[in-house]
Order: sequence, then C-alpha cells, then structure tokens
Amino acid sequence: MSNVFCNFPWVHNYVHPNGKFRLCCTTSQDIVTNDKYHSFHAGKHSVEDYWNSNRMKEIRKNMMKGVKVKDCIKCYQQDEAGVDSLRNSSGMKDLIAQTSEDGTFKKPGKIMQLQMTNICNLKCKMCSQMYSHMNGLELLEMGKVSPEWLLWVKEQGANVNNWTNELGEKQEWYKNEEYKLKMFKHISQNIEYLNVVGGEPTLVPEFYEMFEYCEKEGTLGNKSITLVTNLTNTNPKLVNFLPKLKKWKIWASIDGIGERTEYIRYPSKWKKVLESLDFYKDLTNSSNGGITLSPAIQLLNIDQLDDIIKWWKSYVGGELDEKWGFTWLATVWYPLICNPNIAPQQWREKLADRLLNTKFDNFYSNFVNALKKEELPLHKRQDLQRSFMRYNDAQDKFRGITKTWRDLCPELATAIAEEQKKV
Ligand code: SF4
Repeated sequence: MSNVFCNFPWVHNYVHPNGKFRLCCTTSQDIVTNDKYHSFHAGKHSVEDYWNSNRMKEIRKNMMKGVKVKDCIKCYQQDEAGVDSLRNSSGMKDLIAQTSEDGTFKKPGKIMQLQMTNICNLKCKMCSQMYSHMNGLELLEMGKVSPEWLLWVKEQGANVNNWTNELGEKQEWYKNEEYKLKMFKHISQNIEYLNVVGGEPTLVPEFYEMFEYCEKEGTLGNKSITLVTNLTNTNPKLVNFLPKLKKWKIWASIDGIGERTEYIRYPSKWKKVLESLDFYKDLTNSSNGGITLSPAIQLLNIDQLDDIIKWWKSYVGGELDEKWGFTWLATVWYPLICNPNIAPQQWREKLADRLLNTKFDNFYSNFVNALKKEELPLHKRQDLQRSFMRYNDAQDKFRGITKTWRDLCPELATAIAEEQKKV
C-alpha cells in the first residue's frame, strides 16, 4: 500500500458547514480557487467547478508521484503513529490509469459528505459555532453579562471552545438558488453514498427539497444515505423518502442516558429523543434502514460508557449487527476540557477497572486501557481542570439548570477537587 496515496480526491466530495469544499472531514484545508486567494464555496461554485481545478489536479498529481499533500498531514501522522487513519488507497492502480498526467480526472465522485449548515437547536458541550450557531449566540449573550468571561473563552481557544469566530452567524450556502439546484442535480446524477451532517439537517427545509428533487428525477433508489441527527426533531416527509432509498442509516447522536445526555446536549429532552428513535425504528421494519448509536465520548459521559452500551443493546433487543450499530469514531479530543485525558489519574484508573468488566469488543478494551495511561502531566491536567470547572460552572449558572455537572458527576467533581490540591 502506498504511504501517500488516498482515493478521496478521486471518489469523494466534502462540503463543510460554511460551504467550503475540502478533500474530506479530516483535513482543515479548503480547496483554493485558481487565483489562490479564495476558496471554492458551494454557494458560489458547483462541484464541477472545483473538481478539476488547479489545486485538485495538483493534489492528484502529487499523490500519483508519491509526494505528500499538506491537506492530508493528519492522516500521515496517524499512519506513522500506527493509528488507523481515514486514508484509503483502494483502487489506486485503476484510478491512476484513468487520470491524465496533469491530474485531470473526468469521472465524478460517487461519495459525498454534505454538511448542510451550522443551524442547530442545541448547544452541546463539545460543539462550537462552526457546528451550532446556537453555541455562538449563547457565548454572545453570556458576553453581555460578563465581557471578561467571553474574552477568557476566546483567549483559551480550543481549550474550551473550538471556534469563536463569526459568533451567532448562520451558515446557509444553499440560499443561493442557482447553486443549490446545481448541487441537487449533481447529487441526483452522481452520488451513490451520501452522508448528511449539520448543524441539525432535519431542521433545514432544503434538506427535504434535496429528497424531493431526487424523487422527481427518479434517483432515490440508487442512493445509500447516512443521516447524522440529534433526534430532537423528525419530519413525516421522511416516512415517504427513506423507504425509497437503496439503503439508509441514522447516526444517532446520543451522549448518555436520560439527564446526562440532556445536560451534554442542552436543551434536548430524553423523552423526545426516545420518541424520535422509535420513529426511525418503526421505519426500519418496512425498509432497508438501520440505526447506529454515535455517542461523542468525552469526560462528561465516559463513566456511563458501559451503561450506554447495555441500554443500546436492550433498546434494539439483542446483539448489535449491520442494522443496529455502535460507532467509535466520535471520541472528543477538542475542546480539551471535554477530553477524558484531563481527568484525575486515580479517577481514570478506577473507572477503567470498572469499565473493563464490560467485554464489548476489542476497540472498547483498547479505548478503556488507554484511560490508564498518563497522557498529560499533572500541572497540565490541573490547568485544564480549572478551565473545565470555570467554563461549565459559568454556563450552568447562565442556563439556570437544576442539575449541574457537579450534581450529575459527583465522583468526578470530588476527584478533581482532590487532584487540584496536589503539588
Ligand atoms: S489522506 Fe486523509 S486527509 Fe487526505 S484525503 Fe485521504 S482521508 Fe482525507
């Protein structure tokens, strides 16, 4: 296998919530236009516009020659560290054979990750303005009460919140009618595997318009769709569309049981989440669908991991399989105050011992064993624990919630207080 090549620039389109095109969800580089000063944007450019642009051709040319591409640095680093990356070099020979020397590749990709928007109704702990405009609005509101607090959040950066630019702004690339229709046409004609992410896609009327477009064109039947949803909202239109797809899968963003997920995914309601799950579960009986539980595993829920798995298995009525899945992709590294590595060492070791009694799968064991490792030095953990407390205490007070993180995670609160005393 090549240690540079990846088939994504040949087979995959990725649209970020801000409308920018990228190679995939791993990279943070936007595809630049031929003038090198701007980026391709779904509200101003079509997929066809960027697909054989100078930058895309350069990326393909480099990969064919075995030259590393800066957009892919994270994958290369993961590969070198022996950790599985998203990089995929299958079909390399054929793809290269069909590519011109200058990097032009005439066939369209069949796979797309479409981040519809950053419009969301929730303000999740691990999220940011880029994925929920509500997070940005809340930061602004809190900043009115305490400008000093907002300044601190911005200074802390990815320690406490990943994105503090353009606070409160909605990202709606599809509001340009011409380019929205070009995107729908491209999806209808070319895309076989579509992964729709938000914000929260089910809140966006254009999400349903896309299905309507494909239905009219008679192309729903050749598409497999994954929908990432927070399950706070369902729409009867999906009862019509989902069964007409070749295959569909819900990635259910649930971060704990009951009041724990309500806290992390504020202000969601557990009762509504369960109703939405039942809505999709009913649809799986009459069509080729399934549900994958996709918790964002983090400091505020890792102690519930065994209970989450047990609950999910009992909800689906037995063992997990192709139809009823569980994903490990969503471990939260940033913001750092959500990262389980900042937890007190003794708390993590004790938790790992308890969780290991649940023999779920190999990945689970590796994941839990990693909890025992001391990834961060004491002073760094203490710094981040102080940021964790300041951020969450302030947010809890502002939200006026009845159960704070200290009430929901009392053992963690005690362990942090103890580790703060260490020198
Ligand atoms: S190597 Fe990684 S970052 Fe680059 S396109 Fe492939 S999956 Fe994306």
